[in-house]
Amino acid sequence: MRAIPRSIRVSALLAGAAVLILSSPSLRAQAPADIQKAVDAAFAKYQNLQEGKNADYIPALAKVDPKLFGIAVVTADGKVYTAGNVATEVSIQSISKVFTAAQVIQEQGLESIAKRIGVDATGARFNSIIAIEGVKTVVGTGAPEMNPLVNPGAISATGMVTGANADAVWAKIIGIHNDSAGRTLKVLQDVYKSESDSNQRNQAIGALMLAYGYIKSNWPQAVDLYTRQCSIGVNAKDLGTMAATLAFGGKNPVTGKQVIDPAKVPGVLAIMATAGLYDDSGKWLYHTGLPAKSGVGGGLIAVSPGKFGIAVISPPLDDAGNSVRGQKAITDISNALGGNPYAAGAKK
Ligand code: GLN
Repeated sequence: MRAIPRSIRVSALLAGAAVLILSSPSLRAQAPADIQKAVDAAFAKYQNLQEGKNADYIPALAKVDPKLFGIAVVTADGKVYTAGNVATEVSIQSISKVFTAAQVIQEQGLESIAKRIGVDATGARFNSIIAIEGVKTVVGTGAPEMNPLVNPGAISATGMVTGANADAVWAKIIGIHNDSAGRTLKVLQDVYKSESDSNQRNQAIGALMLAYGYIKSNWPQAVDLYTRQCSIGVNAKDLGTMAATLAFGGKNPVTGKQVIDPAKVPGVLAIMATAGLYDDSGKWLYHTGLPAKSGVGGGLIAVSPGKFGIAVISPPLDDAGNSVRGQKAITDISNALGGNPYAAGAKK
């Protein structure tokens, strides 16, 4: 075989590298300065936006400062890009549903949740009781089909975490949250008390879930632990790191700990994509392509698989119960960074 002259080999290599760089918007867009620029731009653009309203059906949530606004993006190398207030904690609320479902899937397999609870959108509000009386049924059980990100499915998922007693179950639930955030999180006791005093609707849901066989025993324990998990205090940086753990195959990129089995992560992301923003999930996915999850405390996480995890905390919510500034800021930042997985290879 005749040798190719060195100069040709080198220039072919350089041309190949140039093509690779130019045709890869994600590589080009994710330079650190670009990420920080996108985060700062979204913060500046939405800082003074006055839309939405704090949740007030849990009295403690109405008291949180509606001006609180923090953004965090966490990338594969564990770098954290932030703007605004990323230190103040709010209650995690429904975002916890993702990690408790991940815990169940982790210990009992992908089919556990799919079979007992379902993985389809309900098209109803997160605490809908009508959805429990739905017409679709989980295959082979005759029970209505839902998903672990609406309250009935989430309370049932909490009830599925195994443990000899409430403390043992709680240790697993808080454990997966801690490992995903990369630090020891604490329950915000004022929120826990406020929600425990006012959660009659969730208690009714818990009792119904026992009646229909989703919870096998002790529904009051499932509702109490669910209420506790919703009261875990998190800041925007914690939530960004938790999103990034899901973005990088279950491995926390800040601590390097493998928290969730990589084989289980796509299932968790799929549930987020179909039901993470309740009955606005379709609209959200249409505009961003990102699996995401909101909480009534004002947190919103979103995942660009293999690229970044992102989170915003901003308490005012829209009618569907999702953070207004959170949705806008994440949409802008993700679009600037080429985060939409459905747009892979597309030119910006
Ligand atoms: N703890 C809240 C509830 O059960 C969580 C709801 C939410 O964040 N959407 O009502």
